[in-house]
Amino acid sequence: MRPPYAQRLVRLRALLRANGLDSCLTLHRPNILYLCGFSGSSGALLVEPRGARLFTDSRYTLQAADEVHNATVGIVQGPLLAAVGERLKRVGAPTVGYEASRLTVQQLQQVRRAAGHRVHWQPDRNPVEALRAVKDGGEIALMKRAASLGSRVFEQVLPLIKPGIREFELAAEIEYRMRLLGAIGPAFETIVAFGERSALPHARPTGRRLRKNELVVLDLGAILSHYCCDLTRTVYLGRAPARIRGWYQAVLEAQAAARLVLRAGVTAGQVDEAARSALRDHRLSPSGGKGLDKFFTHSTGHGLGLEVHEDPRLAAGQKQELQAGNVVTLEPGVYVPGVGGIRIEDDAVVTPGEAQILTTAQRGFLEL
Ligand code: ZN
Ligand code: ZN
Repeated sequence: MRPPYAQRLVRLRALLRANGLDSCLTLHRPNILYLCGFSGSSGALLVEPRGARLFTDSRYTLQAADEVHNATVGIVQGPLLAAVGERLKRVGAPTVGYEASRLTVQQLQQVRRAAGHRVHWQPDRNPVEALRAVKDGGEIALMKRAASLGSRVFEQVLPLIKPGIREFELAAEIEYRMRLLGAIGPAFETIVAFGERSALPHARPTGRRLRKNELVVLDLGAILSHYCCDLTRTVYLGRAPARIRGWYQAVLEAQAAARLVLRAGVTAGQVDEAARSALRDHRLSPSGGKGLDKFFTHSTGHGLGLEVHEDPRLAAGQKQELQAGNVVTLEPGVYVPGVGGIRIEDDAVVTPGEAQILTTAQRGFLEL
């Protein structure tokens, strides 16, 4: 298959022109990787009307020669941004976009100083990230492999969920298995939460030991070939009480409702509302109480790709229309303070029809 970089640069330049920009500067690693294939930790990519230039240092001479497509590599001694500024001064690019959310004040001052007063700087609205939100077939194939790796890790650690294991031990086992299966590493700090701690959506693993009759939430992400997966499963150690089974069923229904609505042309907010309204139909306990939507305290999902949180965001009221090729998580949850939480998270590709689910771990309620 032909490398996708030339085509991505063509599309980026069209967006730049539409925004009145001649060139753009990116320092954000996933954006650089996406546009020219370079995966080193230090680089600045300047996309010009004709051609692109990657500035990096001598530690990356060989790596850049091997990885970079469709960009000229400049090996710089001294600050990268001073070299970028000097280049702009020389070619006289009048209007340059930059990533306002990615450059520090100091970096911006440095490049501006070197470029001189004839260059106009425009904080952009992340044109690269808008491109990245729509995945091509090659990216989706890689994400499918990452998602199946994450799903295998979940299945491999199930036998370890026994009384006495500590949260951080289980987190370590998860990350170790990711590496053994070929992942570069975790996409984020693995979440393992037992019992009442599972009511914290972003619990950090502690020394807490698992006891019988407790909920277990595992939220894991692996990076394979630069692409992330993001998977959450909730299981129960023992026979779950009816109330907890009811919550699980409600979260499962909320996720299914979001999945049914998810397709090209609907807004991100409609997908979020589908999950929320399914939870609204369930009560805290069989005898009544508040609707379970009151215990769903975060958004329904987020884009996923080279980074674990990308556009689009599936949150309440979001007007952004989804496009075929968006890859998003669907992760409704219910969190009851002092008791515990349940979250089910899968990764889905948006298509004109039914969403394609990438994660393969079994979704039914497991009582171990
Ligand atoms: Zn997650
Ligand atoms: Zn997530």
